[in-house]
Amino acid sequence: MQRTIEMADFELPRGPVSIAQLMAMPHELWDHLRIEVTKQRQRDPDRPLARCRLCQGPVFIRSQAVTGGHAPVYAHYPESPRDCPWHHGANLIPDDARAAQYRGHQECALHRWMCDMIATFLRADPRSGLVTVDRYRRPAIEKRGRYPDVYAELEGLGRFAIEVQLSKPFAPEIAARHLHYEAEGVALIWVFRELPDRLPQGFRDVITLQRGNAFLFDDTAFTASAAGGRLLLSACLENDRGGWLKPRLVGLDDLDRSSGRATFVEDRRSARLLAYCQAGRAKWWQAFREAPPTRFDDPFAQPCFIRAWDSIKTFVPNLSLWKRQSWSEGLSRGERVFAELAAILFSIAHCAASGEERVYVTRYTGEGALVAMLNAKLSGEKLMPYADLIATMLAASSIRDRLERPSLATAIARAKSAVEQVAAGHPVWDGASRLFPEIFDGLRRAELDDLGKLPRWAGGSFES
Ligand SMILES: [Zn+2]
Repeated sequence: MQRTIEMADFELPRGPVSIAQLMAMPHELWDHLRIEVTKQRQRDPDRPLARCRLCQGPVFIRSQAVTGGHAPVYAHYPESPRDCPWHHGANLIPDDARAAQYRGHQECALHRWMCDMIATFLRADPRSGLVTVDRYRRPAIEKRGRYPDVYAELEGLGRFAIEVQLSKPFAPEIAARHLHYEAEGVALIWVFRELPDRLPQGFRDVITLQRGNAFLFDDTAFTASAAGGRLLLSACLENDRGGWLKPRLVGLDDLDRSSGRATFVEDRRSARLLAYCQAGRAKWWQAFREAPPTRFDDPFAQPCFIRAWDSIKTFVPNLSLWKRQSWSEGLSRGERVFAELAAILFSIAHCAASGEERVYVTRYTGEGALVAMLNAKLSGEKLMPYADLIATMLAASSIRDRLERPSLATAIARAKSAVEQVAAGHPVWDGASRLFPEIFDGLRRAELDDLGKLPRWAGGSFES
């Protein structure tokens, strides 16, 4: 391994200068830098202008003779630690051990540098009170998740914990820290150096908790912070296609902390989840509006219901297979059964959302129409296999009290004992799940609930 100081940190506002950047500089520029380093050393040897990124020891720029002139390299001043992996001197550590330590050293040094710079920019804010970097105390702490990498109090803005996360996965800590800081009333912000193309799971978890926002302290953020005299981060926000919007610079003032549990610039997840839910049933709502089944003798033969069936088939392709099987087994035509079931589920959703007893199938109206319709439908063999599914929808909705009506309880129990019930994994159940993920799709239901966006009709608290 070539032992070269690859990165030196200069006093602000200069900041980090890599060996590659140094070597690419015009001669007069690195000459100037070289002289400044020497001058500062004479003025105040305890406050060097440039330090080695790895060992923090003071460094200078040596002019090295090369073919056709001179090239600059960094070199440690004699008092720098001799065991720095970038040290040129006598080899105190065997080379294999050095190689093993090397990556860890580098990552550790970058982590330290990021914490220090973030703290420096936080302290530059006129509102700043206590700002601490906790890297030294951390190993002594028994209870994990207590001390953040950087902690800052800003007058009028609040208290912040900043965790600098480089590359190691750390999944178990994430949730614990969020809960801890939420309880403490401290805004937790995870900061990365970069976004790898293939995101490790730990990164994904953080981005999920930050509602599709990733914050980077990259070169752009560093330069902007140094110029602006306050901490600025590059915010990467998820787009709707699994990628990222163009990064933008944000300060702590730009963060939304209203939800308590997550810090973000813009909630990129809730809207997408809600849009996903809407998309699964858009054609069906349209059909029920266009051709209310109660007004037609054969409503489900209307073109709008054919479009609705086509749409659910594209979401749940197994429905086509199920339709063919039902046909060959001499059962009712699958798409009619599905449409009738959909009419039942939409009636429940409508009733739960509006409190209005309006049903999309049968001619019952007014008070008690929903239960009367359900009793009628569940008494027929065609829909008996879906009693469980219908009960699940009701139980998860805001009108679960209907399940306590004796007539409906009896109808459901009778259907369940009479025929085998479809369950999750059955194409019809999966179709229902795509129509109403808020109810049947456990993961999405839980995520909506976590985000405070589970609609009231689906048993949540969100007023949509
Ligand atoms: Zn060093």
